[in-house]
This record gives sequence, C-alpha cells and structure tokens, in this order.
Amino acid sequence: MNRFENTESFALSADAQDAIASLRDAFHFPSVGRESSIYFCGNSLGLQPVKASTYIQQELEDWSHLGVEGHMHARKPWFPYHEFLRESTARLVGGMPHEVVVMNSLTVNLHLLMVSFYRPQGKRFKILFENGPFSSDRYAFASQAAYHGLDPKEALVELPLRDGEQTHRNEDVIQAIQDLGDSLALVLIGGVNYYSGQLFDMQSITKAAHEVGAVVGFDLAHAAGNIPLKLHDWDVDFAAWCSYKYLNAGPGAVAGAFVHDRHSNNSSLPRFAGWWGNDPETRFTMPTEFIPRKGADGWQLSNAPVFSMAALRASMELFDEAGMDRLSAKSQSLTSYLEYVVGEVNHAVKGVNHIGIITPQNWRGCQLSLVVSKNGKAIHDALLADGIITDWRHPDVIRVAPVPMYNSFLDVYQFGQSLIRAIQSNS
Ligand SMILES: *Cc1c(COP(=O)(O)O)cnc(C)c1O
Repeated sequence: MNRFENTESFALSADAQDAIASLRDAFHFPSVGRESSIYFCGNSLGLQPVKASTYIQQELEDWSHLGVEGHMHARKPWFPYHEFLRESTARLVGGMPHEVVVMNSLTVNLHLLMVSFYRPQGKRFKILFENGPFSSDRYAFASQAAYHGLDPKEALVELPLRDGEQTHRNEDVIQAIQDLGDSLALVLIGGVNYYSGQLFDMQSITKAAHEVGAVVGFDLAHAAGNIPLKLHDWDVDFAAWCSYKYLNAGPGAVAGAFVHDRHSNNSSLPRFAGWWGNDPETRFTMPTEFIPRKGADGWQLSNAPVFSMAALRASMELFDEAGMDRLSAKSQSLTSYLEYVVGEVNHAVKGVNHIGIITPQNWRGCQLSLVVSKNGKAIHDALLADGIITDWRHPDVIRVAPVPMYNSFLDVYQFGQSLIRAIQSNS
C-alpha cells in the first residue's frame, strides 16, 4: 500500500504532522502569477529570510552612526564579522570551526583553492570531474590547467556516461579514478550535480582518490544546505559552495570554503594571498611578510562583505534552529512525495505526454530533474503563469526543488494539479 495519496487532504495532514512546517513563515514568498507563488527554485536562488532586512538594516544604521569606528564598535563588529558565521557553517558542512570560512564568491574560491591544491607535476596532471559540470567549473578547470602551461584537452577528464544513462554509477566513478591512477592530480566533482540532481558518494570517491595519490575537492553549490555533509570525517581535502541557493543569502551572496585540518597549518602550500588571510594580530601593522592565519581563514583575501554576511546570518540561524537532520528527514519524504505525484500525473495524462525523472532515486537531495518529452518549455511557462515557479533547462528539463526549509506537501500536491492542467492545455 502506498504511504502517499494524491489529495489535498493528505497533503494538509502531512503538513500538520511536519514539526518544522512553521519555518515557512520565516521567509518572504514572491508574488509571480499568484499572490503567494509556489516556489520550487530554492536550488537556484533561495527565498529571502524575513530577518535578512533587519540584520542588514542594523549594519546600515551602525555605518551611518559610527563610520569607520564600526569596524570595532558596531553591535556586530565588522573586523571579525565572518566569525559570527563560523560555528553554524562548520555544523552545516561537518567541518571543525577552523576548517571553514565564509568569503568571496564560489568560482573565486574554486580558483583560490585550486591554486593550492591543483599542483600538476610530471605525469600527474589530470583533473577528473562529472559529466556535464556547471559551466563556470569547467572554465575554472580549463583555465587552471592552461595557467600551468598544460593543454586543457589533455588535462581535463570528463567522466563519460554509459550509453543510454543520464547519471553516473558510483562504481564507474571509482573505476575511472583507479584507471587514471598516478596521472590523476585532482578530483573535483559537484557533490550534487546542478542539472541531474545526482548526489555523489563523496566518502568513497575521496577514499579511492587518496588511494591513487590524488587530491579531492567538491563543489557543494547544490549540496550545502541540501544534504547532510561530513567533510572532515570523509577526509575531503577542500570544498567550496555558494550561499544564494539552498542557503538563502541573496543574489551574489558571499560564498564558503572548507580546507581540511591536515592542510590548515601547511604554510608551504602555494596560495594567492591577501591581507585578510594574514594573522589578525599583525594585520593592521601592515607587515611586509605574509603570515597566513591558521586554517581556512588563511585563504581569505579581502575584508568581509558585511551586508551579504548579515543576510546569511539570518538564514544560518534558521539552519541551526531546524538542524540538518530534521531538514534532511523532511526533504526525503517531501521529494518522495513529489516523485509519487509525478507518477500520478503520468497516470492522468497517459497517451498525451510523459514526464520522466533523471535524478537517481537513492542518490539525491531535494531536487528532481523532470524530462518532459513534448512541449516542455510551454508547460514550464504555463506553470509559471499559474504561480508555480520552477526552472527550465533547455532542451527538455524542468528542475523542481521542494526545499524542506519552506516548501510544504500542499505545494507539491498543487504542483501536480497544475502540471496536469499545463499538459492538457499544451497537447
Ligand atoms: C551555481 C553554481 C556556480 C555559480 O558560480 P558563482 O561563482 O557563484 O557565480 C558554480 N558552480 C556550480 C556547480 C553551481 O551550481
């Protein structure tokens, strides 16, 4: 017997039993297509926490009242502002507090960390990544290889998919690592692929890569705030993520980085340095010699973007309140419900259209990538006109992310009803 029902009353009762349902009230919902849209794009741009404006407003006030004195005397002093995010960020990614830092933006952090951790030498120069990485990551890999005087065509290894399959089997990732062996310098995979929604087995990938002497990093843009992470225990060398997707810190928000403890005191690693990575004790004496701060902090370049960090604080408080365990438990049942509802939609529109799902059933976060075999763009647009915000990916994919922080079972039920109407009016 199925534990789900495709009815409004089932969705409402599931919401009534959801212990973290009230977190929804901590967010502003856009009004596109209806007064309060149904939002499934938290994988692209998270919603605005209600408290974000209070926290940003506080910094604007302190700046207006204190000017430069705010560095030390703001209610939340700007000089150590990134420290206010340390503990919650460490909890979020499973790192020790000194292993994480909030800084820069994602692609910048990938570059900075590759400067330190992609160190091609002799025949060990290849970078392995998943099929179809985010464009920015591919550009970063290719330009890093070129920076070392290598031909990106030889240095970059994009893991092939098996014929007729759209996601990877973990055994194939491990096999590719073993086959590359001592030619492999770096594995840098999207922990959750942005397109397929596939979650990778980061622990076994890290172990296999270390066994052949390679370094392992993960781009966690689609994993941070979506998947429980244990970066320290998994022994990952480094990671980077953005904060405007599942972390709800707003467009272009300040990003995050993780550097494993075993590298944190290694001042011999090459790095592109800036004054904020220097020991704060001596930072303002402007010493001529750079003395990196211990831990991930030593990779910082510039002083903290306080307004962006203020918005992130508002969101991280909610992650602390909910806890990744509860979010993840809700995520699994909400996304399973979405999967079930898509099956019910297929039943209702049989012979008219068919919705497939690329995302692997057992390796995923909240996102499902739906393949719409006919009129996908028109169906996406019809959903939007009905106030249901999803994400269109050419040529035939609609990404739908029911985010446990603010989506409900009712949202998912209503999505299914709207999808049936959209398919019927576009057939
Ligand atoms: C969203 C995303 C990016 C975006 O990079 P920015 O530097 O934040 O603009 C890069 N890589 C991946 C995998 C992403 O999902």
